[in-house]
This record gives sequence, C-alpha cells and structure tokens, in this order.
Amino acid sequence: MLAGILLAAVAAATPSADIRSAVEAMTPRLQETRRDLHAHPELGNRETRTGKAVAERLRQIGLEVREPVAKTGVVGILRGGKPGPVAGLRADLDALPIQEKNDVPYRSLNPGVKHACGHDAHTTIALGVAEVLAGLKAKLPGTVVFLFQPAEEGPPEGEEGGAPLMIKEGALDDPKIGVLYGLHMDPQLDVGKVGWAAGPIWASSDRFAITVTGKRSHGAYPHTGLDPVPVAAEIVEALQLIASRQVDAQKPKVLTIGSIHGGNRFNILAEDVTMEGTLRALDEAVRSDLKTRMERTVRGIGEANGQPAVLRFVGGGNPVTLNDPALTRAALPALRRVFGDPGVIEVVPQMGAEDFAHFAKRIPAAYFKLGVRNEARGITAMIHTEDFDIDEAVLPLGVRGLAEVIWDHQTGQRGGR
Ligand SMILES: [Zn+2]
Ligand SMILES: [Zn+2]
Repeated sequence: MLAGILLAAVAAATPSADIRSAVEAMTPRLQETRRDLHAHPELGNRETRTGKAVAERLRQIGLEVREPVAKTGVVGILRGGKPGPVAGLRADLDALPIQEKNDVPYRSLNPGVKHACGHDAHTTIALGVAEVLAGLKAKLPGTVVFLFQPAEEGPPEGEEGGAPLMIKEGALDDPKIGVLYGLHMDPQLDVGKVGWAAGPIWASSDRFAITVTGKRSHGAYPHTGLDPVPVAAEIVEALQLIASRQVDAQKPKVLTIGSIHGGNRFNILAEDVTMEGTLRALDEAVRSDLKTRMERTVRGIGEANGQPAVLRFVGGGNPVTLNDPALTRAALPALRRVFGDPGVIEVVPQMGAEDFAHFAKRIPAAYFKLGVRNEARGITAMIHTEDFDIDEAVLPLGVRGLAEVIWDHQTGQRGGR
C-alpha cells in the first residue's frame, strides 16, 4: 500500500508517462523538422532561414521569443505555472562548408554546405523539449530558457558571433539563467546511449597563426637574402617538442599545424612563410602555459636566425568545456529513466572543442553526448565529414532525456532510479 502511494507520488511528480506520450506523438514531426533543417543548411552568422523557422515554431507553441540575438540567434522563454528556478537549454544552428556526399532524400540543397556536425538534430531536439515542456506548463515550476545560437563553428573572419556574442547580448541575463544544459551528437556512441562526464568534456581550442619574415633573393645565393623556410621548419619541430617534452605527459594536449604557405618558385627564397594551427588542452592552466611557451619558442627561433618570427592567437578561442559535477550527476536518474541503466555511460573527454564552454564558464552546466551510431545501417562516419549522418532514433530519445532532466531540475528532485 505504502509502496503504491510512493509510486503514485513519484509518477505524479515526474510526468514520465506524459513526456513519453507527447514525444511519441511528435516523433514523425521531429524527423520532418530535422530533415528540413538538414536540407537547408546555413553557415555561421548566416542562419536566417533556420533562425526564422525556430522563432516561428517557438511562437506557435506559446513561448516568449526574442530575436534576432547575436545576429541570427533566437531565445525562447517558457514560464511555468509555479514558482521555481531558471534553467536553460542550448542548441546551435550553423552548418559547415562541406559538400554532402550522402544520397539521402533529405540531402543538402545548398551546394558546399552541410549539417556535418548534427546541429540540425540539436535544434530539432531543443524545439521538441520546448514543445513537451510547454504542454506541461501549468505544472512546471520556474522558467526554462531555450538558447538557439548561431556560429558554433566560429563566425566568419572579422565578425563577432557564437556563444560570446550571445552572452554579450544578454542571452543569459533576462531571466537570469541558473543552470544550463547542452548536447551533441556522438557517432562514437551507439544510438540509444548517452555519454556524460563530471568535469571536462571537451578541450579548449586556440587557433594560432605564425609568420616568419624573410627577404627574397636568388636560391643559389641565400646569404644575400633571408630564407624563412628552414626557420619555419625549425619552428614546426620545436613546437612539437613543447607538447612532447615540456609539459607533463599526464596532461592531455594537442598542437597541430594544419597549413604552411610560402614561396612561389623553386629557385627564389620565399618572402615569408605563414603557418596556421590549433592548440588543444583539457586544463586551463596547461592551456595558458602552452601559449606562453609557444610564443617564447617562436620568437626565440626567429631571433636566433635573425628573422622576425611572430606567433599570434586568432580570436579568443574556446575555453575547456567544464561540466559541473553535481549538476551532471543530478541528471543521471532522469537519463536512466529514458536510456536505461546500461545506456547511460561515463565518457572520457575529447580533444574537440565547443563554444558552449563560454556559457559553462559563467554558469553551472551539464553537457551530454547522444549516441547516433548504427553500424548495421552503415551510420558510422565522424562529425565534420562529408558522409556524416545520424540514426534519427536519437531525436525522440534526446527530447525525452532532456525534458526529463530539466523536469527533475525544476522540481528539485531526482525522480528515482
Ligand atoms: Zn562541429
Ligand atoms: Zn557541433
């Protein structure tokens, strides 16, 4: 009897059944929305169609809508019928400059642009969560804010954008968001699984550019000019030695030089050499230490060779994406209700980066990775590839999972399991 009453109390407090049936009913529409977004991908700070579609949908389901925020972004505010905290859910809108290779009915209609990072699914899931929670509005304590941000992959050169611009334009402030949730598609996890980490989940990322200035002369008489090519080669090697020799081997870091350009003829010294690369770390102290060492090394090698060599970090970079351990763990019971115990997996942080980190630096955040891999159906490609795709079964699971997590947070409970 007592057990029956307790069960009934839990069922009333955690409307899992309501959430489940609402999501079941909307599943075909989730697929439709994702496919529409997938077919019409837009690059960072240019997500006008996407932003409009999101704003329209949020208005239809009765949310207060603020737009545009940070150029093409949208903020939707759902005020519950009872007093309570303010939680946020963040999704991203932008696609990548990658040509779609998949021969699917929803293939990209924009040549050279593709949702290769799954942001179409993130947006779809956040819209679904908004709709589910709007349906439970009268019983919902507090407020849920939905942030749809542009340019997660970085704004075009010379433009502001992404999470930093959302923050600058007050997306976290009115109402003041107390905790923030986020998610990403993960092709390394099978569909039906969700990954969590109570600490760093993505690395920091810093883009850098190096210029070595030389002086042109005939390649047969290098002493009459300044040859930046061997100096650049020395720099490439020395930077790798920083990562492998100067920093604790227990501290993950990656230093990649992705491009080198210089010279235009085999027998003429190059005028200069430019290089670009990316620096990753899982710890802010390691990140800043590496930056200092890199600057010193580049400058020092330039000086030793009598040629100016300058390293510059481009933009502010992304901090380490740090999950709040308590907030993350508090979400696990809700995730287990949806994904089952074996479906909720602790994952190790990866060296990819997320501009969600800028939000997580300011407020406690929990960011999850949703499995989209389905080997039997050939869905195994990594994000940022021309053949990336997802198993769309992730869409209803993602909506249910996040809706339950937010519900538990708003009602201040852990809903069981
Ligand atoms: Zn990406
Ligand atoms: Zn992404």
